Amino acid sequence: MKMPFKFLLFVVMSLTLIFAVGCAQTDEKTSEPEKAEVKKESTESSSKEEVKDKGVVNLYTSRHYDTDTELYKKFEEQTGIKVNVIQGDGSELMERLEREAEATEADVFLTADAGNLARLKEKGLTQSVTSDVLATNIPEKLRDVDNEWFGLTKRARVIVYSKDRVDPSELSTYEALTDAKWQGKVLIRSSENIYNQSLVASFIELNGEEQAKEWAAGILANMAREPQGGDTDQVKAVVAGEGDIAISNTYYVGRLLNSTNQEEVKIGEQVGIFFPNQDTTGTHINISGASVTKHAKNVENAIAFLEFLSGEEAQAAFAEGNNEYPVNEAVEASETLKSWGEFKEQDINLTILGENNARAIQIFNEVGWK
Ligand code: FE
Repeated sequence: MKMPFKFLLFVVMSLTLIFAVGCAQTDEKTSEPEKAEVKKESTESSSKEEVKDKGVVNLYTSRHYDTDTELYKKFEEQTGIKVNVIQGDGSELMERLEREAEATEADVFLTADAGNLARLKEKGLTQSVTSDVLATNIPEKLRDVDNEWFGLTKRARVIVYSKDRVDPSELSTYEALTDAKWQGKVLIRSSENIYNQSLVASFIELNGEEQAKEWAAGILANMAREPQGGDTDQVKAVVAGEGDIAISNTYYVGRLLNSTNQEEVKIGEQVGIFFPNQDTTGTHINISGASVTKHAKNVENAIAFLEFLSGEEAQAAFAEGNNEYPVNEAVEASETLKSWGEFKEQDINLTILGENNARAIQIFNEVGWK
């Protein structure tokens, strides 16, 4: 009775996801593989009996890296808990989780940006988790104040500049990019994107609404072109000479530099990374992170899974899979990231990015940043 129902549920769920993704409009180019094609995969466990004993953890994730799959296997080996992975676009998976409600099989939801995780929490799709391990491994500002989501990897939203045309001594702060000096030279993606919403949400917190709005209006006035494409497209446009500077998350440049495609490596080598606001409020950071879902059926396994991903053994590989910084301070960043040097971060709890999200969207609308 139990098995056929589960199988039927799986078939229905899979078809729904395939349909949903088929219809989805993507806001990132295929060169930005956070929006992965859907595939259902489960890492095979060598011992089925063990799996039966220890149960499973069902994961919805917008990540799709081979390094992640290897880590899940390692978790299975260490704990006997089988990891079932459903991979897809973050917003589609969020809609799916909402639609499935109590019937969902998802125990853990993993996606990018504290703003997205805050939305998940706001929709009542997450639950609070008490774990000393998570509290120790993850700095407080990278966790939800109610412990409903946890940062697992960290990225910075930085100024990427043309090494040919910009001397880094000309750069200082996000605010300075609104100076007339940069008119027609700034490349940045649409305001519909959560990364820019979270950036402005952080400015609302640190500088107040008035200044956040002035910043958005000033950047709009200096744009090299109408917002289009993802962060990688902005970096490529810098190299193509469409503008001199872009605002991008660090891992996109890391991906270019570590690409197997030599053309992409060349593009990565022609830009520099500048961490803004080092003498003031710090560089904006954000996370990829995870929640235990509200209706998780395997809560203990879900917590064990998050604890494993935040641990020293997993952190380096998990972060490096996407050229990100580990959140666990006991773990070193990759060589690429270390080559950019250390930097001062914004000192705010990322929960605030969710709280200020609606106001940030309003500001974009008010100034006319599409
Ligand atoms: Fe991204």
